Amino acid sequence: MALDETGITHLKINKSRIKQRLKALSQFGLNQNGGIDRSFAGKADAEARKWFLSLWGGLFSQKVKIDAAANLWAGIHDEKTLKPIVLGSHHDAVANGGKYDGAVGVILATEVLQTIYDHQIPMRHPLKIVSFSAEEPNPFNVSTLGSRSVTGVIDQNDLKPIVHSETGERIVDAIKRMGGDVSKLEADRLKPDSLTVFFFLNVILSKEDIYMIPIIHWLWSRQSPAFTVIK
Ligand SMILES: [Zn+2]
Repeated sequence: MALDETGITHLKINKSRIKQRLKALSQFGLNQNGGIDRSFAGKADAEARKWFLSLWGGLFSQKVKIDAAANLWAGIHDEKTLKPIVLGSHHDAVANGGKYDGAVGVILATEVLQTIYDHQIPMRHPLKIVSFSAEEPNPFNVSTLGSRSVTGVIDQNDLKPIVHSETGERIVDAIKRMGGDVSKLEADRLKPDSLTVFFFLNVILSKEDIYMIPIIHWLWSRQSPAFTVIK
């Protein structure tokens, strides 16, 4: 770490740590074709969640949290009074998906927080990471579940009729198995102007996908400052 003449601190992230974590995460749901099957609430998703919770719990002294939609959250500098800066994505995958997609967004968010935390960089804002539930299509036929829940686009009544196309499990029960509780969905929504900025990294395969991300819509509609989609 070094300070230049402007006083800006230059920090280096740890590339090999990023690669190693991406590899570790890609083992959950790895199939015979080398692709990843890690749809919402399946065995691989449950394993990946456990892995993230243990990773974050070990890295940051503050507690990790599972919200009503079973989104995973962790944070540092929670004692700060300004609005948080949030970094995140999702770790579930499309069927036979690749190892980057949203996973790389969550791993990089982890790296950013860890780098700031380990170097004890003073921050004016709390910093948070999130991994949203069921952002990708899955056998419940519901995607962007986590980000639509926190932004208030869907509520518990929308979720009640939804069942898994193969097992028949109700999505509200699946959310519960993943640590969420749909009866608290409304209470766990983001309040207007409750974030300073949200950084979302997701490897997007088609242009259309970008317009499907409700958290971006939510920020856009509030004309959130410092909000830019980088393609
Ligand atoms: Zn994605």
